Amino acid sequence: MRIVSSFFLLFILTACNGPLLKKSPEKVVVAIQPYGKIPPAIMDTVTKTLHDMYGFQIIVYPSKELPKSAFINIKSPRYRADSILHMQERWKPDSVDYLMGLSQYDISMTDRDKNGNIKKPISKYKDWGVFGLGSCPGPTCVVSIFRLRKRENYIDRLKKIVVHELGHNLGLPHCDDGPTCVMRDANENIKNIDKEKLELCPSCKKKLYGEQ
Ligand SMILES: [Zn+2]
Ligand SMILES: [Zn+2]
Repeated sequence: MRIVSSFFLLFILTACNGPLLKKSPEKVVVAIQPYGKIPPAIMDTVTKTLHDMYGFQIIVYPSKELPKSAFINIKSPRYRADSILHMQERWKPDSVDYLMGLSQYDISMTDRDKNGNIKKPISKYKDWGVFGLGSCPGPTCVVSIFRLRKRENYIDRLKKIVVHELGHNLGLPHCDDGPTCVMRDANENIKNIDKEKLELCPSCKKKLYGEQ
């Protein structure tokens, strides 16, 4: 009887939770906040990519500088991605569903294991440079072009990273189901992003939109 009732509860929870996306896509508003100088062609690419991928309304805020409070210089001059997410959560107006920062500057975080300890070697992971960070689920994410722009496949990688970070905000975790899913974990290697396609696998689409 216990098993039956647990199963029933699980069924109810699953049915109540439903798809991650609660509104129709055209009613979802995403704001992009550029930090520093982001070339107009890059802004256009990011805007179009997010709109084409998710069907959301995308608005672009005027560029501003990142506050000094997020700045650190342990290995090199960088801004803390986790601080940026906290600031963006405070700034985000209620009229906007998700706020994506797009930074000219390098961003980093402290990378921790499942127990909350800094990964070893600590000197490497205490200030770990990243391409992007997004809360899952959550209202904001940040992506930096700093490490991408001088390397191969710049634009293709940027498109996948912005779609991936917004995917985290929408509630999609890292995905092992689709071999080329854009929600795969890059596992600390930028070249893994090149194996992905600019698309969600059927399993991620089902989580996001429900049965279609
Ligand atoms: Zn990720
Ligand atoms: Zn997937």
